[in-house]
Amino acid sequence: MANVLLARMGEVTLKGLNRGSFEIQLKMNLKYRLKRFGNLKIYQSQSRIWIEPKEEDNPNFRSMADAEDIMKAVCQVFGIVSVSLARKFEGDFESIKENAVSCVKELLEQNPGYQTFKVESKRGNKTFPMTSPEICDELGGYLLDTFPELKVKVKNPDFIVNVEIRESNYIYSGKMMAHRGLPVGTCAKGMLLLSGGIDSPVAGFMMASRGMPLDAVYFHSYPYTSDLAKQKVIDLAKIVSGYSGRMTLHVVNFTQIQLDLYKQSPQDMLTVTMRRVMLQIAERLALKYDCKCLITGESLGQVASQTMEAIAATNEVVKMPILRPLIGMDKQATCDISRDIGAFETSILPYEDCCTVFVAKHPKTHPHPEDIIEAEKDLDIEDLVERGVLGTEDIVIDPF
Ligand code: ATP
Ligand code: MG
Repeated sequence: MANVLLARMGEVTLKGLNRGSFEIQLKMNLKYRLKRFGNLKIYQSQSRIWIEPKEEDNPNFRSMADAEDIMKAVCQVFGIVSVSLARKFEGDFESIKENAVSCVKELLEQNPGYQTFKVESKRGNKTFPMTSPEICDELGGYLLDTFPELKVKVKNPDFIVNVEIRESNYIYSGKMMAHRGLPVGTCAKGMLLLSGGIDSPVAGFMMASRGMPLDAVYFHSYPYTSDLAKQKVIDLAKIVSGYSGRMTLHVVNFTQIQLDLYKQSPQDMLTVTMRRVMLQIAERLALKYDCKCLITGESLGQVASQTMEAIAATNEVVKMPILRPLIGMDKQATCDISRDIGAFETSILPYEDCCTVFVAKHPKTHPHPEDIIEAEKDLDIEDLVERGVLGTEDIVIDPF
């Protein structure tokens, strides 16, 4: 008997001719994400991926409790729908009964309140002498005899004992839900504008869930924004990289550029001019690092810089598509995702991001094109953008 992980694939299985390349990418991503859990064999059959330890006694597979960390890591890999820890063994119905008993024992130790269950069975190997309903009946009866405190309940039982008969036999109970999506790496890379807030990490997570690898850019205005603010962005990048894979965080030294803007453009237009410069620097970095789009955490109407006019005013300075996955989302829904992906506690730490320091008291919420021309007339935009690109520090971010 050995424990293995059974991971279920989602949207990938709907792919046609290119399904193979999505599956290869998915297995590569699992390999990368799980490398700190020992030497593993990762293979696939039909819509499932099996993850087995190559060594005899890998501590991450010993019990449900021991497997929690590796299962969480599997759930961070886009393309996976859910994962279960399964017992894998050979043999006839006797061995199925034995393994089911020890599976239920372990489960009851961890969940002493469980009272009801049912057995579900799948028989892929048609040479096995019992049908699925027979397995369910006989095994259910046997478990009732062994655990007299339990009752069978068909609708909403406390737990289900799943039996699968394939080349080997498998027994498991329960599953951990993953984030679905498509494997990262099946689409071109995007440049995420990552601030220390709630929205942009969620935006990065959402695009990565469609298969997009990420790089990130952060505009840092030291000493107006502190080293703690920068560390917070590094921490957020690390959290996002748990889903998107390794990324490079480009930290733009934005202080002097922002001071120049502060001096030379009207206060009420500062947000717009600043965001226009930010987007142009981001686009240039994106081109340099082979990214095909920019990604922001903007949501329509959320703040002054996110009215339709303000968005249009920043949009027009770049050629690349700007993806805004949160554009139609309610703040609460964004916060829910932020909590779910483990970013929220870091995002709400109180360090300033650069926009809050230089923000005007009454920013123009509906800037006209003439306002923008007027605001930028004394600025050497090309020089500002070029300085931004040159003054960048690159930090490689891994999820581990
Ligand atoms: P967030 O919660 O992501 O900080 P926000 O609600 O604070 O967003 P804004 O400050 O208007 O909104 O920023 C809108 C978007 O612009 C952010 O989601 C982010 O993508 C980008 N952005 C803002 N400030 C920075 C920064 N200092 N560095 C990189 N990107 C930034
Ligand atoms: Mg912000």
